[in-house]
Amino acid sequence: MNSSSSDGLERYQTHEPENLQERYAHRAAHMKPSEIRSLFAVASRPEIVSLAGGMPNLSAIPMDMMAGIVEKLIREHGQEALQYGSGQGHPQLREQICDVMALEGIKANPDDVLITTGSQQALDLISRIFIDPGDVVLVEAPSYVGALGTFAQYEASVVHVEMDQNGLIPEALRQAIKTLRYQGRRIKFLYLIPNYQNPAGVLLPADRRSEILDICRAEKIFIVEDNPYGLLGFDRPSPNAMRAEDSENVIYLGSFSKTIVPGFRIGWALVPQSLKEKLVIASESSILCPSNFSQMAIASYLANQPWREQIASFCALYKVRRDAMLSALDAYFPKAATWTKPAGGFYVWVTLPPEIDTKAMVPRAIAAKVAYVPGTAFFADGFGSWSLRLSYCYPTPERITQGVMALSKVVEQEMLNRGITN
Ligand code: PMP
Repeated sequence: MNSSSSDGLERYQTHEPENLQERYAHRAAHMKPSEIRSLFAVASRPEIVSLAGGMPNLSAIPMDMMAGIVEKLIREHGQEALQYGSGQGHPQLREQICDVMALEGIKANPDDVLITTGSQQALDLISRIFIDPGDVVLVEAPSYVGALGTFAQYEASVVHVEMDQNGLIPEALRQAIKTLRYQGRRIKFLYLIPNYQNPAGVLLPADRRSEILDICRAEKIFIVEDNPYGLLGFDRPSPNAMRAEDSENVIYLGSFSKTIVPGFRIGWALVPQSLKEKLVIASESSILCPSNFSQMAIASYLANQPWREQIASFCALYKVRRDAMLSALDAYFPKAATWTKPAGGFYVWVTLPPEIDTKAMVPRAIAAKVAYVPGTAFFADGFGSWSLRLSYCYPTPERITQGVMALSKVVEQEMLNRGITN
């Protein structure tokens, strides 16, 4: 681990003075930096090929066009754009969001939409409303690191449910619920990412969606459907959203971070009517109202720009990168490894022989000038030590190939050191 002191990883460990620890509320003990954040500082060095972060590739967005929108907004509607707004969100944008969701089969009323500061805020609000310490939240295995961090802060007991190349396995969900009920545990909701999952890259097919909806409805377990990548299918549209089939039991989360830009920090929750009031109150207590400026900029973009074509150009850009990553994995990676083959989104999930600890391998990868996120980041229970997430969204195809080649050598060396034959 010598190299870790020079690669900056240690700088991001928190060392709290002891007396402050005593003064914090006990929930503060559950606030830990994510493994991804500690990697960011290192991975953003120019000489390192970062296959770690999931930053959208904004080279597809014409910045002059954005500048024009923002300038016109301030000049012509500055009094409103720079003022406080409604806690639930701007009415025009809530209507436009319903048009966006219609692409995935959702028929929604703008009155049931709550605009949030990114879908990350929606995750926080839902957690705040539902989770008492010790309550169970069911999640895929693996699941989104940012959601796991939020659930942990509200002291949820996170239970992972097995998935395969086709996403969450309905029978595994049935079994998990049965076991938890037998133990007398309180299950609050199932959190899942049906489209091009983060981190696994897999897509949940329509028949599994229906089966999972049936199971959760029968068991009175809410589904939180997190869908930031749904419109980023490379070859065909993704199946209809789960919310399209069930407006009572599904809380749907959307975001413009991956289909427009993340910088405006605009996401939303489409919620069953019975929950809306609570969510709006919770949101007002954390942010008063979402930014009028950001909402109106997005509203103007949606009203005046060819946003469907823009999403298509994002898809084209990411598809080339996905192809570069899969070809490089095929060409260079040890045969003892397996990986998912995403049909959209940003991520590939790689599984290595179980003897390999991908967290311990990070400094060696950094020394070889490539970064990834170790698999344990995506589990609440320490599992995943021989997996890793690669993202292809940001680097050029050439850099992706270079990064995968470098990582292949690191993995091969690890295997040699452990006497694993390929
Ligand atoms: N959910 C998932 C699955 C994500 O990957 C992300 C961002 N990486 C988010 C939610 C949060 O996105 P935002 O807050 O930018 O909408």
